[in-house]
Parts: sequence; C-alpha cells; structure tokens
Amino acid sequence: MDLDLTPLTPIWTGDAEGISATLRITGLMGSLRWWFEGIVRALGYYACDPTCSPTEQGYYNACQYDPDPKKNPFHGLCPACWLFGTTGWARRFRLSGSGLHASEWCIIAAPEVARLHDNWLRRVYKPGSKVLWGDALKLQFTRHFTRIRVPGDVDLDSIFCGLLNVISRFSALAAKPQNGWGIVEWRERPQFDRTALSRFINAFPGDSRDTTGMFNVKETAFFEFSIPNPGRYATYTPEMKIPRFANPDYLSRVLPIAYDIRYKSRARNPRMGGGADHGIRPALKNLLGRRAEEIVGASARTQDEERFASRVFVSHLYRLTPRDPYRFRSWVHVPPDLVRQRQAVTGAIQNVVTEMFPSSSCKLYTWADFQKEVL
Ligand SMILES: [Zn+2]
Repeated sequence: MDLDLTPLTPIWTGDAEGISATLRITGLMGSLRWWFEGIVRALGYYACDPTCSPTEQGYYNACQYDPDPKKNPFHGLCPACWLFGTTGWARRFRLSGSGLHASEWCIIAAPEVARLHDNWLRRVYKPGSKVLWGDALKLQFTRHFTRIRVPGDVDLDSIFCGLLNVISRFSALAAKPQNGWGIVEWRERPQFDRTALSRFINAFPGDSRDTTGMFNVKETAFFEFSIPNPGRYATYTPEMKIPRFANPDYLSRVLPIAYDIRYKSRARNPRMGGGADHGIRPALKNLLGRRAEEIVGASARTQDEERFASRVFVSHLYRLTPRDPYRFRSWVHVPPDLVRQRQAVTGAIQNVVTEMFPSSSCKLYTWADFQKEVL
C-alpha cells in the first residue's frame, strides 16, 4: 500500500549526532508507536513502554512474549507490542519512505532571545544539521505474516491508515515533535476502514498493569491555532535567524518559531529589575510552581535534553501556500495528578499565544472530539 503525505513542517529523523540528512525509518517508527500506545491507553487497555523509562515506582512492565498460543492466544503481548514487535515477536509490517530531501536546519527567534537560543541550540544541533523537506512524503506499507489472524479480524492496512490519520489530523510524525518538526497532512486520503484501529485494540484482553502518568490521548488537549498576522516574525531580520546565514527552501511556507512559543523569556534587567517572562514554559511555571516540571519537563544540561520529558508540544507555524494564513498545532498531556489544573493549563497556553499574536484564534479539541473525528 502506498500512502502520500504533504509535509507542513520539516521532518526530523536524525541520529544522536543531531543531523537529519536521510529518512530513517526507526525515527518514524518511534513516533508511530508512541501515538499508538497513547490511543491504546485512552481506550482503557495496557500498552507497555519499550524504552522502559525508569520511574519513581521502578520500571514499566514490558511485555514478555509467550510462544504458546494455547496457553496465551495473544502471546502475552499488548496491542503495541503485537503490532510493532518486541523480543521474540517481529513487527507485523514493513515500512519504507521516500520523496524528501535534506535541507538546512534553521529557526527564527525574537532578537532579545536569539543569542540565548543560539547558545544552547549550538550544544544540541551540530553544525551542518539538516531536516527533511519536500512536496510529498511517500510511505510504502507492506503487511508481513499474512496468514496470521489479526485480533478483531480487521485489515492491517486500515489500522495503519487509521494511525496515520490521527497523526495527519492532530499530531506529528517522526522525532522531536516538541521542537516543531513533523507536521504532515494527507496528500491523498486513502480509502480505509476507520473503525479498524479501535476494533483491533478492543479485541485484546484487559490488563491490570498500571499506566498512570504514561502518555494517554484521553488526558491530552489538542490545539489548532490560526495566525493571520505573525507580527515581527513575518519580516524577520538576519539577527533573528539561527544560523544567521541559513536560507533553507521551506522558509516561504514555514515560520520556525516553536522555541519562542515554548521557551521565550525576556531576560530581567539587573539594574532596573524590570522585564517579564513570556512563553508556555514560564507561564506554566507561574501557574503550577515546581509542579510545572511534570508538564514542561526539567532540563538536564540543555533545554533540549530533558531530565523529565516535556508533555507540551508546539509545532512551527506553517501554511500550504504563501497566500494562506499561518497555522500551528500544539498538544499537552496533563497527567492524572494534575487533572484539577487541566483547564488552567490549557487556558494558560491559549493566553500565551493570544499575547504573542493578538489576532490569533484557537480551536481546542478534547478526547471526545478526537474520538468523533479519528476513531
Ligand atoms: Zn507491550
């Protein structure tokens, strides 16, 4: 099955060196599995975290493959391991991709924070870092093990289309979505059975293993912002570009300012004591104090490599043609222990954007909307 997507922001599938010059399928697979797991948990089923992130409680329970189908018809696998594979059980499909070229990595920042961003980004992104861009991302999906029955008796192609449909509607593909990359939409929406994704998951047995705090779409709010006037970012100067002399081919359609929306803070003037902080991170710190770390993440050495992963994601601004208004997506996972602050958190994010772009408008989507549109 061939699937065609249009990148709306460049795609990042880079390696540890911080260079993303070729499309690495492992970089795509990680994000596909991440979204799939979030949907499985939202539907009330267990999905393990294959990275086995250490938590205060110990380690998340990864699935143990049981080869005996008589004893265990699902081989002891969660829906995510069944589809994406785990030790002893191969991934049920093959994926390849083409159509993109390497383009210069570049972001734009407000002049008062550009130096600051430049300093820490230099430690994260190696000189010569690339992102992937092009008019069409073509994915080839091939089903493996065609004689094995798929739980729910659904068609595996439709499960995969359903997952990509979620990504093209609400989220992002590939790595570093928190840094603005990976927004895509269908170039041509394939015909598929939209119920396949949830029917597949609902066919699995219940599992009492705890998933509290793990990514869960049900606990996530999705935003879609429209920005008719991006203000001074629309006429950025060379001082606002990082790296300064970069001139990638995506800049006519993409305004790469996600860092400013997430982090931007105006340094306080040490003599005058004035100055105010802006951006989602300082706004949530104001709102939640130290507990904000549970949502915005806690920095280790740099703002990019976080000790606790961020649960706030902001895309760069994008538009399909230079005549369209800019748009961007954002989503925030509010874990259960902060559920009472949920509305305050989504309100604070909306306020940050309104303050930055007074003419902007926002659509907010909850789990009910998500279910209605893509499940
Ligand atoms: Zn599993």
